[in-house]
Amino acid sequence: MQTFNTAQFHDSLARQWRSFGLQSAQQMTQHQWWQALSRTLNELLPLQATAPNTQQRQVNYISMEFLIGRLTGNNLLNLGLYQQVKTALADYEVDLTDLLEQEVDPALGNGGLGRLAACFLDSMATIGQSAISYGLNYQYGLFRQSFKQGHQHESPDNWLREHYPWFSRNETLNVHVNFGGKLVKNAKGVERWEPALTLVGEAWDLPVVGYQNGVVQTLRLWQSTHSEPFDLTLFNDGKFLQSERPGIEAAKLTKVLYPNDNHTAGKRLRLMQQYFQCACSVADILRRHYLAGHKIEQLADYQVIQLNDTHPTIAIPELMRILLDEHQMSWDKAWAIVNKTFAYTNHTLMPEALECWSASLMQSLLPRHFAIIKQIDAHFKPLVEKNWPKDKAVWEKLCIIHNRQVRMGNMCVISGFAVNGVAALHSDLVVKDLFPEYNQLWPNKFHNVTNGITPRRWLKQCNPALASLIDDSIGTGWVTDLDQLKKLEPFIGDAAFRQRYQQIKDDNKLHLARYVKQVTGLVINPEAIFDVQIKRLHEYKRQHLNLLHILSLYRQLRDNPSLDIPPRVFLFAAKAAPGYYLAKNIIYAINCVAEKINNDPLVNQKLQVVFIPDYKVSVAELIIPAADVSEQISTAGKEASGTGNMKLALNGALTIGTLDGANVEIAQEVGNENIFIFGHTVEQVNALKASGYDPLKWRKKDKHLDTILKELSSGVFTQGNKHAFDLMLNSLGSGGDPYLVLADFADYCEAQKRMGEHFVDRDLWTRTTILNTARVGMFSSDRSIRDYQQRIWQRKA
Ligand SMILES: *Cc1c(COP(=O)(O)O)cnc(C)c1O
Repeated sequence: MQTFNTAQFHDSLARQWRSFGLQSAQQMTQHQWWQALSRTLNELLPLQATAPNTQQRQVNYISMEFLIGRLTGNNLLNLGLYQQVKTALADYEVDLTDLLEQEVDPALGNGGLGRLAACFLDSMATIGQSAISYGLNYQYGLFRQSFKQGHQHESPDNWLREHYPWFSRNETLNVHVNFGGKLVKNAKGVERWEPALTLVGEAWDLPVVGYQNGVVQTLRLWQSTHSEPFDLTLFNDGKFLQSERPGIEAAKLTKVLYPNDNHTAGKRLRLMQQYFQCACSVADILRRHYLAGHKIEQLADYQVIQLNDTHPTIAIPELMRILLDEHQMSWDKAWAIVNKTFAYTNHTLMPEALECWSASLMQSLLPRHFAIIKQIDAHFKPLVEKNWPKDKAVWEKLCIIHNRQVRMGNMCVISGFAVNGVAALHSDLVVKDLFPEYNQLWPNKFHNVTNGITPRRWLKQCNPALASLIDDSIGTGWVTDLDQLKKLEPFIGDAAFRQRYQQIKDDNKLHLARYVKQVTGLVINPEAIFDVQIKRLHEYKRQHLNLLHILSLYRQLRDNPSLDIPPRVFLFAAKAAPGYYLAKNIIYAINCVAEKINNDPLVNQKLQVVFIPDYKVSVAELIIPAADVSEQISTAGKEASGTGNMKLALNGALTIGTLDGANVEIAQEVGNENIFIFGHTVEQVNALKASGYDPLKWRKKDKHLDTILKELSSGVFTQGNKHAFDLMLNSLGSGGDPYLVLADFADYCEAQKRMGEHFVDRDLWTRTTILNTARVGMFSSDRSIRDYQQRIWQRKA
């Protein structure tokens, strides 16, 4: 807990309103209040930074995405200053809660991968793992989503980074980054890189505040600018284009976050972003290493570089380049350092998400790095030859450059000392399906670290009423030791506790219902089951399976309006990548079906469907505490882990899910009787595909399913247009239904039915939800970080 110096606080606030050119605090708008408060807190911060632990290797976490969510409320909470500041502001008749609504989410990530990075920042600072994190300071975060006649509409997210009060720019940390050009040989035949373009990376720092422990770490986001001041001579000479080009390239580079989730686009600008980020970060890591008085040879003794997916892989040849070209190290010496420094986290097995770059693009943009990558292959070849003599197929699978493609995952596995998957099942599949031969070569390289979520944001901050019920019952230790939630189990027998727990859920549902009314105009029934599916829109996540079940209920209710089932509200929130037309078609279908059902008086007492627009961290914080049911229904083997599943279970939602990703471990923790599992397992999915899966057969043998699919192409949801959902329906039919939606449909409906029956016994339901909260302590990201420490970062060889 920080001490709160009231006088200092008011002094700093006064400096802020004066800087706005105002005469008094009262003249500030709400937005200025938020700015002033945040700047004030930021000013008070650096004094509280504590010395890093010198006994452990420092972690350098490189990620292209950090989905940090709003900072002001979270920082207040982690500083332990929430109440004091609330009181101090009340003196000005300013309400802290309202003021915090002024902050726009810094949406510098797509979904789970970026959010994981943000949870890890919080946990590293909280458990005292010395760390610095590196990302990009995008001018435009992930697009904002709205709906026009049911279709997704995207608009730019200019989050005004230049006015974001939590940034501190450190001008002494600028880094020069080279691109393009060619390799030229000197007299001794040694190649030297002559680049064509130099950009400058500026360091924009955000504070990462540990939970009430005095620690403040850094998230350093690089922003591009051009290298020299605008070249007036060239300009005056009339060579206008030449002088302006670098400026334009520079301005573009960190302008936008690519909006793809689990999919790579292969664009030149994206590769430039990757290299820009890695060059800046590696330079900064080395700068800090020297500043601490260490030698380059000792790098791996003090530093680990953790790569969040393959996006920052180019950091590997970048470090090789510096060691070889700038330090004139031998290959073997340089390689030994690189080999002990890099660790890589794999996030997906799906081919469309495994990063490959065209060799010619790589060669033209980064000729020296391309040459180094070829050398890595050449040095690796004898080992493969020794283990698989004369086996061309194995070599073609394991090398980095093949078919004029540079395979980033292969580079990570060959070059680093550790590879990890993000849930037990996923890590098994990484070894068995993706990298079996590498595992044969280096069995000790492969690990599992199951993902986690920070309980600070995902319980204490987003669900304050539940957090204080827990405090009252078992004390406050759970916030930094989530396993303590187990101590809630005995309270299940306490009727007063159950009543309070249920009351909190009901209040949260009312709160969400008000938000839904405000953003969509729809009045939803707060007594209904709130069944939520909130995550990126992706075929493998199967929002369309959810839709088919909704249509099944709709059909049953139309046929028999007095059908005795508990009322349900289905809530969706999801963005689709702008170029992912099938995903956008699924959004459109859900919106059309919602429109029809919500306006059908025969069913709308029992069934409502809402698509909440613009899914982001702050919207997740509203939905999760209000959820009764958590939809985690990906095709088995496709979701690496999931973290939404953890957030929802922690807040007392019951999971309906497949045996995929971390669902497997959630089921183990909460017990099979407290979760609704359905669907084909990974083995069954493989067997079904091997036997030649034909969705048409599944459709033919299920009349109910056939009726539903026919309705979707009948035009009843689209004013007669029979082709509005063709993209989705074709994928489920002639497209071969690659994600086995039809094969899992019947079992899914069965699980939904069991869930509905469970809800009718409200007391049983409440007991089950309390058990879910009590038993998911292992999904704290504090535990994930400790696993990284023990298995990877601080592992003694
Ligand atoms: C947690 C979270 C995700 C990840 O959700 P999954 O269900 O694991 O895919 C994505 N976006 C936001 C805003 C989140 O908070």
